[in-house]
Amino acid sequence: MTESALSALIEISHFYGIDKDYVIAGGGNTSYKNDTDIWIKASGQSLADITPEGLARLLRKRLQEMGQKLYPTDPVQREAEVKADLYAACHPGNTARPSVETSLHELIRYPFVVHTHPTRVNAITCSKDAEKSVHRLFGNKALYIPFVDPGYVLFTQVRDRLNEWRASHTTDPQMIFLQNHGVFVAGETTLEIRQIYSDIDNTIRKLLPPLPGNNPLPVNSSITSVLPAIRMIFSADEMKVASIRNNSLIEHFVASPENFSGVMMPFSPDQIVYCKARPVFINESDPEAIIRSCSLQYTDYVNRFGYPPKMIAIRNIGLIGVEDHARAAETMLDVFEDWMKISYLTTAFGGPNFMSPRDIAFIDNWEVENYRRQVAKSSAHKGRAEGKIAIVTGAASGFGAGITKWLHTEGAHVVVADLNEAAGKQIESGLNALRARNKACFVKTDVTDAASVERMVHETICTFGGLDVLISNAGILHAGSIDEMSPETFDRVTRVNYTGYFLCVKYVVPVLKLQARLKPDLFTDIIQINSKSGLKGSNRNFAYSGGKFGGIGLTQSFALELIPFKVKVNAVCPGNFFEGPLWSHPENGLFVQYLRTGKVPGAETTQDVKAHYEKQVPAGRGCRVEDVMKAIFYLIEQEYETGQALPVTGGQEMLS
Ligand SMILES: [Zn+2]
Repeated sequence: MTESALSALIEISHFYGIDKDYVIAGGGNTSYKNDTDIWIKASGQSLADITPEGLARLLRKRLQEMGQKLYPTDPVQREAEVKADLYAACHPGNTARPSVETSLHELIRYPFVVHTHPTRVNAITCSKDAEKSVHRLFGNKALYIPFVDPGYVLFTQVRDRLNEWRASHTTDPQMIFLQNHGVFVAGETTLEIRQIYSDIDNTIRKLLPPLPGNNPLPVNSSITSVLPAIRMIFSADEMKVASIRNNSLIEHFVASPENFSGVMMPFSPDQIVYCKARPVFINESDPEAIIRSCSLQYTDYVNRFGYPPKMIAIRNIGLIGVEDHARAAETMLDVFEDWMKISYLTTAFGGPNFMSPRDIAFIDNWEVENYRRQVAKSSAHKGRAEGKIAIVTGAASGFGAGITKWLHTEGAHVVVADLNEAAGKQIESGLNALRARNKACFVKTDVTDAASVERMVHETICTFGGLDVLISNAGILHAGSIDEMSPETFDRVTRVNYTGYFLCVKYVVPVLKLQARLKPDLFTDIIQINSKSGLKGSNRNFAYSGGKFGGIGLTQSFALELIPFKVKVNAVCPGNFFEGPLWSHPENGLFVQYLRTGKVPGAETTQDVKAHYEKQVPAGRGCRVEDVMKAIFYLIEQEYETGQALPVTGGQEMLS
């Protein structure tokens, strides 16, 4: 019995959890109770992907005792004591952390409770006519709870209002609307809950104006000369990401200070927790004026509130979320977009009703506490490329794919730049499926096309807000003797391997220089993945070798030009990557080709061919991604080496 009830609970949790109209940023919670126990979504879990292990199990008797107890009036002391009692009320076998809203679920006398913060419901609960509208639309089927401080105070408020209700009703309400918060829906079955939710939604939907669309709109190209500076202003202590978003809804709100005043104040404590109570609006259009205004407003904000802002809007450009990692920035932008929708929709119910300055100050105090705690701890595991933003060109296969994955594992945000859309997107989605704090972003890029490279940099800035490492890795190889080589093929190889490197550097450097201006102690890196053929000529492979030699010349020259901006420019020269597709591809890899053409006398299998080539390496094996990564991390971490070509060849090539 319990088992089937819990699987129904998981199912309905997923149903609402994946719907952004109901649940954003892992908010909301669901519960099931029998006579003795309650199972509720644990803290830190999200409804969208919760499993039975994500439910906390508590003893109802112990929770009821908490309802009778007297707690201290000091909020910090009180909430700490409530939390300790909640933990003590857990079932002996429980391992999950119960959330602060558990006691609210316990109060409601139905087996199933689904609590969410739906956008359309909050169009009412966050409006001036909230109470009136709830009564008009839902009559005596709904209980309305005016706003109070969250936590224990909210609990006592709901408890007292329910007791009042029970004096005049025979059954409990199945809808409880909480002002500036959301709704609790309760029922005997999850089917009943779905029915009630859909009745609520149908009733409200009819009264709402249509929302401006939220399909992505392009971000003004001037953002490349603004956002890297903003990211630096915010990265005084630790490197942040700054993601920008634009769509019709955002466009409406950032069109003027007047429009933006509709979201200058928060509606709910959740919004403050994710986005801070006050966003920053920049009413400028010239890039330099935007940077100046941002810098001034940042300092002013920190002085006034004791913590930095997180949300910035730039007039007629878009909405920016600044966070430690890209996933958090994305969540924050989702929360703020919901904030915009609610504000827009409240016009149907008398206009927006923001939290009062006193209520904001109460949450702000918690936030200052949390911020201090967060700064004090920050002991989470940090990778070798933690928080860095890296572009890898030619990232869809071979060394490029390996480097991209490795940088991501070590905490970097990676731009997967490649011409091959299918393979590139696969790498992007594979990395993002890991649900790490850092993200991957595919940008279709042709390094031989200036416009395409410029777009790659623009996309990088829009997604992550800056750049710390460029790995210029895209390359092609067409071997052939002088007789065989056509001018067209030679030109193509040169354009990818040589000109492509220049184009990437050309469009990346303004970003790196801008960052250096705002944060003069910051070192950034340009690393070309060269080759051992860039150090020594290669027989019947001159198109490739010549371009790679040229790459060393570019590296040395760029290094001289860019060192005043603390941009290090180095090349890594790997030996042959025998395990990569160029050599090992089962149909057209070099091992198969050399076996077919009899290039290695006496070889009968591709293994024989491979062994022949391995023997030519003093270290006895081919170069691997991990060898290249050690070289890359060395170049990134050191601060006294530039213009170098670092061989990673197992002793096959030595510098003279
Ligand atoms: Zn809630």
